[in-house]
Amino acid sequence: MKPMKLSIKLLILGLLTFAMIGTFVGSLLSSHIVSKKTLERNYLIENEFYAKKLADTTNMHFRDMFSNLSVEARDKDYLTLDTKIVYHDLYDLLHATTYFNSTWFVDPNGIVIASAPDINVEGTKVNSIGAREALAKRRHTVSDPYIGINGKLVILISVPVFDNNGTYIGFLAGTIHLHEDNSLKAILGQHPKHENYSYVYVVDSKGNIIFHPDNGRINDNVKENKVVQEVMKRNSGSQELINTKGQTMLAGYATAESANGWGIISQTSKKAVMKPTWELARQISLFMIPFMVFVFGLTIFLLIKIVNPIRDLATYAQQITKNKPVPTDKIPEWYFEIKELKRTLLIAIDFYQKKLHFAESESNRDHLTGLYNRRALEKLTIHTDSYSIILFDIDRFKNINDQYGHLKGDEVIQYIAKLITEATIETDLCFRWGGEEFLIILPDVDLTKALLIAERLRKTFETTTSPTGKPVTVSMGVGHLPDTADNFSELLDLTDQALYKAKQEGRNKVIAANNT
Ligand code: GH3
Ligand code: MG
Ligand code: MG
Repeated sequence: MKPMKLSIKLLILGLLTFAMIGTFVGSLLSSHIVSKKTLERNYLIENEFYAKKLADTTNMHFRDMFSNLSVEARDKDYLTLDTKIVYHDLYDLLHATTYFNSTWFVDPNGIVIASAPDINVEGTKVNSIGAREALAKRRHTVSDPYIGINGKLVILISVPVFDNNGTYIGFLAGTIHLHEDNSLKAILGQHPKHENYSYVYVVDSKGNIIFHPDNGRINDNVKENKVVQEVMKRNSGSQELINTKGQTMLAGYATAESANGWGIISQTSKKAVMKPTWELARQISLFMIPFMVFVFGLTIFLLIKIVNPIRDLATYAQQITKNKPVPTDKIPEWYFEIKELKRTLLIAIDFYQKKLHFAESESNRDHLTGLYNRRALEKLTIHTDSYSIILFDIDRFKNINDQYGHLKGDEVIQYIAKLITEATIETDLCFRWGGEEFLIILPDVDLTKALLIAERLRKTFETTTSPTGKPVTVSMGVGHLPDTADNFSELLDLTDQALYKAKQEGRNKVIAANNT
């Protein structure tokens, strides 16, 4: 498998993706958590406030009902115990307000004197919980819910009736049918609903449901509920709980003292809290995703712009080391760092190339004279098939060294080099071939002309004062390719022999190489 090349582009893109997703998820989570917490707290406060408000209203309502009944109880008509008269009063009482579903007057023995609406129960004995409680206590009562004489679930609200002498002659009562409409239900049953996620229910002091938006739940006992236990202890407040249906609720609760300690509970499903937070997350996503895509695109664009010149430079550097030069003018340099990097790289490469070049040419040169050395011959190419060579050696050089010293000898060698450089043209190649031996290659020069040049040189040495104060003489061999020999080494050999001959024949002489 090919190993993945970890480029700077990939690295930055990876980092960017990580940072973006991190920020996105982070902001979603944090906004979700914060808004959820805020909403939860707000719902708890709101529900508690609403429960208290309803409790206050219920208290007021009960006080009104009691004062209504108490005022009515002072009416002299009740003292007559006359069914017809009492019925009229009860009828008026029933219809004067929307407080009650029925009104009753019952004597101390529990015998019904009259009731409105008239259901023909006059003279019968009532034995309901409410009636028994009213008769027993002989004061204001609010009963627990019970199934009344008419078969309906009711609560009984009663006040005692006394005659002028203060003798108890019965109770005057109104009933509220829990499953039917009445003013109490209007108060407790009508309130803003948060899309069915919020509702109010009321329990009596024993934990029985008196009001519930779901009529079927009325008269259920829910004293196991944590919040119901709180209101049964007459507390008010708010808390989160799981209701009997397993739903998590944010509940506020309060107690209505005048209504025999009823507990009013306003609660909101926690789902209601989640809904707006998911909506918020959706909104954030809608806003953030196009923004992220834009930033991502822009980053990729800039990244390419930034990284490409670096990559080009890297490729350039790579090519240079492989000795494959590539043009650098196409490498963009639009920001400071890449400009400097490119400039420095080019300067460095140029510097080392020059140095290399210099070192290379130096190695082909003789240090003392600056002429080519023997090694240079291998690298130099002679661009012609026809050339002459002059090989010469200083005569009696040992004597010069002995007489004037080695340094002076060096000066003489330099002097010779200077003279031959001046006497030759640019295309001629001058070598220091050995200690005090020199070679001149004359391209496109035939033997005759080479002999003339050699002779002229010899004469120049003979007539020119050297650093010793006297002229030095040289002995010369001259050869030509291809006239003298077929190849360079043979040519050199024959020319060297000519030089040797010149020495033997008394020195300060020019002799052409013999090809026979
Ligand atoms: P001949 O006419 O036969 O050539 O006599 P010669 O004295 O020149 O004899 P030979 O060529 O054998 O001696 C060359 C001498 O040149 C030997 C050496 O000490 C001297 N020599 C070689 N290279 C240098 C150099 O670079 N500087 C100096 N000062 N002397 C050198
Ligand atoms: Mg020699
Ligand atoms: Mg010599």
